Amino acid sequence: MSDPIYVTRPYLPPLAEFLPMLERIWETRVLTNAGPFHVALEERLRTLFEAENVTLTTNGMLALTAALDAAEIEGEVVTTPYSFVATTHAVKMGRLTPRFVDVRASDLNIDPQAIEAAITPQTRAIVAVHVYGNPCAVEEIDAIAARHGLKVIYDAAHAFGVRYKGRSLLSWGDFATLSFHATKAFNTFEGGAIVSRAASRTSLDRLRNFGIQDEVRIPAVGTNAKMSEFNAALGLLQLDHFEGVRAARAAVDRRYREMLEDVDGIDVLAIPDEVVPNHSYFPILVRPGFGASRDAVYEALKAENIYSRRYFYPLLSSLPMYQDMPGADSANLPVATRAAEEILCLPIFPDLAAEDQERIVGILRSLA
Ligand SMILES: *Cc1c(COP(=O)(O)O)cnc(C)c1O
Repeated sequence: MSDPIYVTRPYLPPLAEFLPMLERIWETRVLTNAGPFHVALEERLRTLFEAENVTLTTNGMLALTAALDAAEIEGEVVTTPYSFVATTHAVKMGRLTPRFVDVRASDLNIDPQAIEAAITPQTRAIVAVHVYGNPCAVEEIDAIAARHGLKVIYDAAHAFGVRYKGRSLLSWGDFATLSFHATKAFNTFEGGAIVSRAASRTSLDRLRNFGIQDEVRIPAVGTNAKMSEFNAALGLLQLDHFEGVRAARAAVDRRYREMLEDVDGIDVLAIPDEVVPNHSYFPILVRPGFGASRDAVYEALKAENIYSRRYFYPLLSSLPMYQDMPGADSANLPVATRAAEEILCLPIFPDLAAEDQERIVGILRSLA
């Protein structure tokens, strides 16, 4: 059997370009605590994201928990059940109550009308996810938040480099949090960042470093969410290669769309207008009209050593610790419930060969 094909394969820059950076770390012995690579990466990301402030973190989970902490809220947040488990875990770890609302069918992002209908006197924030890097209804969400005095926190783990209406998608919301995990569009092995307003900078800097202000002052409770110099150096190098990676992924995306166009019962999500995507996922929906169920497709691919992923199944609202949260009943979440049953993310990464894509689509066609 041929080599396994996973849903993604991390991009790594040429090792020869990284070695001088490692030598520099060995010379200076600055390993962490806002060293020169860390400072330089925050600066470059601030420009790229058109943001007032960028705070690097150890990973995307800690970025999200720190952002929720810095938002200084108590009570309920309106959120989506259609995400990676980290989203709701972060809400829960912040001692907030998630209130689940449905997503919209066009992009599987939180439905703004459902948000507004779910707001109660306890609601303090909207925690939304740019699923697959496709923008949420950011203008509508902004307007709802303004009307009701809510904070907006975007889990933007999928949205590195995405642009919307000529500006960085990450510049929307009070906070947008990123993951630089190995599986994401841009990786630093592990890593993350919080995009925020300048006013949040001091509290986020403290939160990620044990609440420490200086040698003798520790005014806040904090965690350890600092990014090391190793990860920051790699991030600087990955940035130099990002546009090439994006273009290679775009070619893979285009080929899939052409190959799948005439397959009845398989739908792909459209690339929305005025969006520059990062193509980090290739989700398909296996509709009831297709010749096999989603799980049968998943198993057939697996039998050929091809590992697609059911992002996102099961719904977070169905997990044991969240099934009693407000809004968690599947009757309240018909669009998300259906998507969770039909979704399958096909392998996509910059060097996925056209022949491998043909093989993947061939297996799909054989089940049609
Ligand atoms: C990957 C991911 C996270 C968590 O990021 P880590 O860097 O792995 O901690 C959070 N939310 C979403 C939507 C993700 O896909």
